[in-house]
Amino acid sequence: MKRALITGITGQDGRHLSQFLANKGYQVFGLVHGQANPKIDLVQSENPALELLEGDLRDLSSLIAVVEQVQPDEVYNLGAISFVQLSFKQAELTAEITGLGVLRMLEAVRIVGGTDTNPIRFYQASSSEMFGKVHQTPQTEATSFHPRSPYGVAKVFGHYTTLNYREAYGIHASSGILFNHEGPKRGLEFVTRKVTNSVARIQLGLQEVITMGNIESSRDWGYAGDYVEAMWMMLQQEEPDDYVIATGETHTIRDLLDVSFKHAGIDDWTPYVKQDQRFYRPAEVDLLIGDASKAHSRLGWKPRVSFNELVRMMYEHDLAEESAKAGL
Ligand code: GDP
Repeated sequence: MKRALITGITGQDGRHLSQFLANKGYQVFGLVHGQANPKIDLVQSENPALELLEGDLRDLSSLIAVVEQVQPDEVYNLGAISFVQLSFKQAELTAEITGLGVLRMLEAVRIVGGTDTNPIRFYQASSSEMFGKVHQTPQTEATSFHPRSPYGVAKVFGHYTTLNYREAYGIHASSGILFNHEGPKRGLEFVTRKVTNSVARIQLGLQEVITMGNIESSRDWGYAGDYVEAMWMMLQQEEPDDYVIATGETHTIRDLLDVSFKHAGIDDWTPYVKQDQRFYRPAEVDLLIGDASKAHSRLGWKPRVSFNELVRMMYEHDLAEESAKAGL
């Protein structure tokens, strides 16, 4: 039985990956810091065989102890402060966890190492936010970075650290440059889930308006369930490498509002949407669109869920959840 250790196990991707690997017959271990995380019961119910271990991305010795105890075949480093807006307010903490956390996890993998015949393989969750003020469209593995937030800057550090450990120590360390990926497990602070949840609540008469920030920026949105498969595929390759994972389609937040309100049978959504400076960012990433040709040709990976299907899936989930909560 293969063993996988996941950091960020209670986040959207950790939850998807935990179930994906369990279905593949893996024994899955998750890193949690402290027992106070309100999502612990949820992740445990989604994957009853999951084993949770205490450790912190700020504490190298705790990571070494966990890697030593688990003796994983594969480590997936998904743990991060991942909300861009928050990273502006807690820049140092973001650098500490999203950036230095990668170095510490790689150090733990280097020090514990695994066996000569079965060295530990490592996956780093890099991000399209590293492209920021894009230098090229669409963005590929060769496009240079120009991050626009403390989160993006920390991810660039993590990306190059992964590359450096691969080159310096020969670690099987791969970096997935994942474009935005969403789904019903997404946190309500992210724009997709904020919109689908609010539209569902408006439809049910539970909310009157949505207050948004900049609705002109564009993102390449895919489904998180499709994207965790790409993470696993990267670690099954003979050689470690970097891969862009994206749909190759981009949509504005305005499109997202259009499609979401259409599902609720509302064509003119202007009366329901307000804008407020507090949701704008000090520096914005205006346009992201990824070219995942390398992942298509080398990994055989392709996204399955389209933008429309993704929004429908999220809206329908939110409609059912919100009406159950309200006892409707
Ligand atoms: P990000 O790409 O990781 O920053 O993902 P988000 O879902 O947080 O934001 C995507 C885009 O939506 C950014 O360009 C935001 O500026 C824009 N946006 C507009 N209004 C909102 C809002 O109310 N909340 C969030 N989270 N983003 C918003």
